[in-house]
Amino acid sequence: MRKPIIAGNWKMNNTIAATKALISDLIPLVKDAACDVVICTPYTDLATAVEMCKGTNIKVGAENVHWAEKGAFTGEISADMLVELGVEYVIIGHSERRQYFGETDATVNARVKAALAKGLKPIICVGETLEEREAGKTAEVVIRQTEGAFKDIDKAELDNIVIAYEPVWAIGTGKTATADDANDTIKVIRDTMAKLYCPKCAEDRVRIQYGGSMNPKNVKELMAMPEIDGGLIGGASLKAEDFSKVVNY
Ligand code: PEP
Repeated sequence: MRKPIIAGNWKMNNTIAATKALISDLIPLVKDAACDVVICTPYTDLATAVEMCKGTNIKVGAENVHWAEKGAFTGEISADMLVELGVEYVIIGHSERRQYFGETDATVNARVKAALAKGLKPIICVGETLEEREAGKTAEVVIRQTEGAFKDIDKAELDNIVIAYEPVWAIGTGKTATADDANDTIKVIRDTMAKLYCPKCAEDRVRIQYGGSMNPKNVKELMAMPEIDGGLIGGASLKAEDFSKVVNY
């Protein structure tokens, strides 16, 4: 019932020249994908990506958006700016933003609201650090982050939002959560959404991805889990062949 969605997170990789090469390789490789396909690129690559992906099944996303409409926020990008470019998705609250750039549950919530107000589709990232996991706090952390991100978000918006469960210790490390662990924590997130909204909304309308070293080798096992609705892919999204293998799992 929930259509799988595989999204690439390029992070701070790829110049415009590299973007052109990667997307032209990718288009034919993913054209028959059964899932939604998204690539989230650095701001400087967005115009090129949107132009190249027109008329294809690849949607384009940004990696962040500011909460204000405009103003004195040097170095930031507004939702209007992304919408004008033709961007459809935006990653919000990635652990690298939380870890290195002071992102909090409150700023994530503010960014989600700003994105939705302009018709962008947020991919909201939640996930525990290794320390939190070892302290047995995984559920507590993802519940807090989910409740924070969805504060005052209307039920009508659920179809326009994707959640990505990304255990921080699995991002870029080559370590993947076991399929069972990932499934269990995603179930905790879905139960949280059921409490915040309604059980049927959480079951039918909330797509939750797994992210953290997902790659061509482990994608099948992860995607076979009942709670996992897709993936947010870092490293493996930088090579057309690898990303297409994940997409075509
Ligand atoms: C990510 O950046 O969201 C991610 C999951 O990275 P990687 O696939 O490289 O672990």
